[in-house]
Amino acid sequence: MTLYRDRGVVLRTYRLGEADRIVVVLTEGHGKIRAVAKGVRKTKSRFGGRLEPTSHVSLQLYEGRELDVVTQADTLEHHRQVREDLDRLAKASAVLEAVDQVAQDREPSPQLYRMTVGALRSLEQQDSPLLLAGFYWKLLAAEGVAPLVDACARCGSDGPLVAFALTEGGVLCRECRTGVPISAEVLALLRRVLGGDLNRALLEPASRATRELDSLATTAMESHLERRLRSIRALDHG
Ligand SMILES: [Zn+2]
Repeated sequence: MTLYRDRGVVLRTYRLGEADRIVVVLTEGHGKIRAVAKGVRKTKSRFGGRLEPTSHVSLQLYEGRELDVVTQADTLEHHRQVREDLDRLAKASAVLEAVDQVAQDREPSPQLYRMTVGALRSLEQQDSPLLLAGFYWKLLAAEGVAPLVDACARCGSDGPLVAFALTEGGVLCRECRTGVPISAEVLALLRRVLGGDLNRALLEPASRATRELDSLATTAMESHLERRLRSIRALDHG
């Protein structure tokens, strides 16, 4: 068996038998991996609480056919604020769930790893109302489905742009409108998030616009994930 080391973020864990746990980790160099952490549920586990969702860890593993085996785990970042605050933890869980959905098994994606580490780090520093929306929009862009936000995605008209549908490719004018309504204020915020002003947008206080952009981001992400899942199902039956 091959021994390897990597860094990663624990996305989720589930039980395996009485004492063991399977951890699903997004690693920097090996993509998404599943590994057995033996004895992790015993009180005197040598891994302690290091292998919990949101943990950023340095791992040593034995490579298995399907499941690897964790032989060593060292904490890089605890994310204490995230874990002890229910609102931040809920945001982190939504980040990790989307990452888990888009990450491919054993397919390295250093960009996704960096984005995930960055989102957790940002959340540790401040509970920004736009953390999740910002992450989802950036993730959609990284997935190659960055929405068009400067002109109608269907006819190219530059305004007024009043609706949004990811399935159409972005914002839509009055004539082409479908999907959900988008206000000028929310559109301006979306342009900032996608246009390189994310760090300052993260400092925006909670408002109706941040809530709307958050809800729009979730709708867009769900729409994207559902298409992905359908395409996977189609492959399975094909
Ligand atoms: Zn149009």
